[in-house]
Amino acid sequence: MSVDFPRGWEITRATEAEYHHNKCSFNTAGMICDCNVLMRHPEMLDKCRFYGAGGEVLSESYDGTPASTEGYDALWLWFGLSRSAFCVLPRVMMHDMPDHWQERFAALMREWDEAWVSQPDIGARVQITQHGQLVKAPSWLLDYRHPDRLALASMRLRKGAGE
Ligand SMILES: [Zn+2]
Repeated sequence: MSVDFPRGWEITRATEAEYHHNKCSFNTAGMICDCNVLMRHPEMLDKCRFYGAGGEVLSESYDGTPASTEGYDALWLWFGLSRSAFCVLPRVMMHDMPDHWQERFAALMREWDEAWVSQPDIGARVQITQHGQLVKAPSWLLDYRHPDRLALASMRLRKGAGE
């Protein structure tokens, strides 16, 4: 892909539904276009530039090799349709992941810190909700020093398993 998802949506919406293929996901499911409207768009075909909102070139390769966006695409897809602006991971669960996973995560976070060296002095607080209502954070979620093994193990079971 050589446009980011916001740009893909701009291109999708800029063309009336009747001009999309009748089997295009935009027409059938309200999803981002997968017909020629987007697939044959000049920005989409330009494999050396990566376009963002308004057609702005976000990155460009000057040696003719395609600008890689596999990582961008994978991360975007991981967030899925959630519209989440943050990724929040409980520390107690992270420390319950395999040691190699923790090592890789720590390396990524060091890389993150090195990339964003001048962050504004703002913070964030996590609020716990259940069925959309604010609730007190359960102790098993906060107490990373004394992991509640039973609570952690129960989250590794597939829903419905063993019932
Ligand atoms: Zn389409």
